[in-house]
Amino acid sequence: MANTFTEPQPSPLALLLLGHGSDPDSERGVECPGDLPAPSDPGLVERARAAKDALGERVFVLGHHYQRDEVIQFADVTGDSFKLAQQAAAHPEAEYIVFAGVHFMAESADILTAPHQQVVLPDLAAGCSMADMADIRQVEECWAVLEDAGVADLTVPITYMNSTAAIKSFTGQHGGSVCTSSNAQRSLEWAFEQGEKVLFLPDQHLGRNTAVRDLGMSLDDCVVFNPNKPRGGLTDKQLQDARMILWRGHCSVHGRFTPDCVDEVRERVPGVTVIVHPECSYEVVEKADAVGSTEKIISAIAAAEPGTAWAVGTELNLVKRLALQHPDKEIVYLDRTVCFCSTMNRIDLPHLVWALESLAAGTVVNRIEVDPDTAHWARVALDRMLALPGPSAAKD
Ligand code: SF4
Repeated sequence: MANTFTEPQPSPLALLLLGHGSDPDSERGVECPGDLPAPSDPGLVERARAAKDALGERVFVLGHHYQRDEVIQFADVTGDSFKLAQQAAAHPEAEYIVFAGVHFMAESADILTAPHQQVVLPDLAAGCSMADMADIRQVEECWAVLEDAGVADLTVPITYMNSTAAIKSFTGQHGGSVCTSSNAQRSLEWAFEQGEKVLFLPDQHLGRNTAVRDLGMSLDDCVVFNPNKPRGGLTDKQLQDARMILWRGHCSVHGRFTPDCVDEVRERVPGVTVIVHPECSYEVVEKADAVGSTEKIISAIAAAEPGTAWAVGTELNLVKRLALQHPDKEIVYLDRTVCFCSTMNRIDLPHLVWALESLAAGTVVNRIEVDPDTAHWARVALDRMLALPGPSAAKD
């Protein structure tokens, strides 16, 4: 079957979403300090290749699945956030780890790599809006509310990989663990062996989907802690009755998919299989045919019969790449409009060239370094996840 992937139409925001200009309200709002080459420079590909060749084994480039193709072509390995962090640790010969991804991923790579390795994020504005929805001071205030309600001792914090190093560190210090979208069920099962309640950070949807769909809880077992309301907007009784205390955070990309998108694509593409990421809302996941991490989505489509049709609810760069890689299948995007991850897209070819050429010239730019105390406790939380039984932990 001919590939019928059609590019969604850009909205007026698309230029900004594609990394041009700056958004003063963005979560980091950090302008690149360097002298970037012009995006129109026809020699950018050659310059990136030359700088990478000059660095040889001293540099290892990691590319997240949601990155642009112009950047992915220079990745030594592609994957989800956890696989990439593991890959960084598996390459101690690399003095420099250039992380084509977002800030929390580079932090995790710094935590898991050896002290002689330096992690570089080509654009410091590449944050994650979900990770930034849980600020460490807010989480400490939340914990104080749980103490006040008499439930902190019964509660185990679990944080999604998509969180800052400070939140991972808090989790480690309070007896909890990190989780990913593919081991969230095992992480929650482990947590409920340690305590009676879970504080799930920062993605309410992954927490709710896992608790209700995989652990058999009811929606009433879950409450949402809103950090912008006094005492989270919850009474002590609600906190005492709840089993899952979900932080009010979400992914701005996966949050765009609605149940209507699923209905609409089923009408538009007869026989389509809808597969979505668990960062989508419970209502969307319930309507879909399958749910899974980026790695699971990739392998499900790779294993599918030729001629099958798939609607994919995850970031657009990955969906476009899947459509190109599988011309024998019909692969469409779940939403009709553009839905790139704007912060992932901050990493473009000019930033990559600037980072690689700077390293080749002996200057380390945009280094991501987690302070030793934070790194220690974050590592404790990561190691608890690694010690979970079952298939190796993975996947953003
Ligand atoms: S896709 Fe969502 S969770 Fe992933 S980096 Fe972008 S904002 Fe964060």
